[in-house]
Amino acid sequence: MLDADFFRRWMTATAASVDREAERLTALDSPIGDADHGSNLRRGFRAVATALDKEVPAAPGEVLQLAGKQLISTVGGASGPLYGTLLRRAGKALGDAEEVTEEQLAQALRAGVDGVMALGGAAPGDKTMIDALVPAVDALATSFDAARTAAEEGAVATTPLQARKGRASYLGERSIGHQDPGATSSALLIAALAEAAG
Ligand code: ADP
Ligand code: MG
Ligand code: MG
Repeated sequence: MLDADFFRRWMTATAASVDREAERLTALDSPIGDADHGSNLRRGFRAVATALDKEVPAAPGEVLQLAGKQLISTVGGASGPLYGTLLRRAGKALGDAEEVTEEQLAQALRAGVDGVMALGGAAPGDKTMIDALVPAVDALATSFDAARTAAEEGAVATTPLQARKGRASYLGERSIGHQDPGATSSALLIAALAEAAG
């Protein structure tokens, strides 16, 4: 069973990883975006870590809802509301149970990803965070490590795609040949989940 402490560890591991990788995320956002993805997410996940230092939610769902709220309120840019929706929806799906199963987590993340697709209108293959998140959620039925691998492969597989959503889509065919920054940060989020489980 996964408790609130597990979810805190997931969020703080994500914050640490985003901090370490912020330059790389921003560099990926330079040729096909506006070179702010790393700084956007660093600001957002620092706020998440700070909020979780002050508040100690008793339920997994509350941890995710608090994190999502911080991302929405601190990140200007597309990724804030999208990641915020992912975590808030997943948190709502978990409700106020003090412990949840891995299967419940997978279902909750599925609901979160559906929320991201509804908000942003992206489908798999549009060269967005969805291309890492959907395969990761599918692979969660197998294991956390399988989800991590699926997310990383999904992020790498965005390189040959032409962007159909977000800022990168303005570039049309010139978006081809670059890995999507949001799919890359989603792979960090899922790697942090595997780390928390590890
Ligand atoms: P902005 O583009 O506003 O500067 P960021 O640079 O923080 O925001 O985030 C860009 C990332 O957000 C993209 O790489 C992509 O993965 C993701 N993204 C953008 N628009 C969408 C969308 N409509 N649906 C899903 N993901 C999206
Ligand atoms: Mg950007
Ligand atoms: Mg921006």
